[in-house]
Amino acid sequence: MHVKGESSMAESECIFCRIVNGEIPCAKVYEDDAVLAFLDLGPMAKGHTLVVPKRHCENLLAFPEEEAPALIAALKKVGNAVMQATGAGGFHVLQNNFPAAGQTVFHLHWHIIPRSEGDGMSLWAQGTYGEGEMAELAASIAERM
Ligand code: AMP
Ligand code: ZN
Repeated sequence: MHVKGESSMAESECIFCRIVNGEIPCAKVYEDDAVLAFLDLGPMAKGHTLVVPKRHCENLLAFPEEEAPALIAALKKVGNAVMQATGAGGFHVLQNNFPAAGQTVFHLHWHIIPRSEGDGMSLWAQGTYGEGEMAELAASIAERM
């Protein structure tokens, strides 16, 4: 049975595995045993950084829970350093799963995107629910766990 998020790509073909292995250069900002972080070469803002678990997995559904503490620690360190180095007042932590959500590299990674007041970036397009729709959808999500 194929589990969503299970690795299906040979790691030798994965661009982020190749960066982790040192086969492809990157603008590294942080490294520890579990995580590598480097600048995104197509930044949404200067300092946009990718935080990448060194061990290959495709997306969040395949990410082992025991690796979460190291990952969270790295997000905090890198987020704080990016904010300071760029003079930003805040940052987003963003993570895309599956092509429908814009995932283009199928090695799990988190985006750290620095933000400043009035920078004009707009990531939040909010809608509304119809009568009863919110409770119905909440129940539908809850019953699938
Ligand atoms: P996602 O759309 O969440 O899969 O994000 C993939 C990101 O990886 C994009 O923002 C790309 O600009 C970035 N990217 C792809 N190849 C490289 C690379 N060799 N070095 C740095 N960033 C990269
Ligand atoms: Zn990989």
